[in-house]
Amino acid sequence: MSDCIFCRIIDGDIPADIIYESHSALAFRDINPQAPTHALIIPRQHISTINDIDDTHHEIVGSLFSAAREVAAQEGLAEDGYRVVMNCNEAAGQTVFHIHLHLLGGRNLSWPPG
Ligand code: AMP
Repeated sequence: MSDCIFCRIIDGDIPADIIYESHSALAFRDINPQAPTHALIIPRQHISTINDIDDTHHEIVGSLFSAAREVAAQEGLAEDGYRVVMNCNEAAGQTVFHIHLHLLGGRNLSWPPG
């Protein structure tokens, strides 16, 4: 989708600090990091929100978690721990409507989130 900022990152039209790539997923550093490591993990296929995930997307969505595992290991977070979260729609704070896992780590994270 040409009006989707994350699709434009996938297409190389907008620069990003890409730290992981697979055939179905991409991870790059968040432009406004909320932790020492804050990566966004996105599918190459445009899916707007969790509400738009259907049975044909299971492999793609699973690949996001495999990417999270790899990024966490790369960043040295696997043992200490990290958080993976996906916001859905406005009440949860979703601002980019191309699904993405936030991977946060490198500091102690409080719970519940705000
Ligand atoms: P969300 O609010 O869950 O939709 O998360 C969107 C995230 O995308 C925010 O944390 C933004 O800081 C981040 N973001 C927006 N534009 C960019 C960009 N061009 N490069 C990297 N991160 C971005």
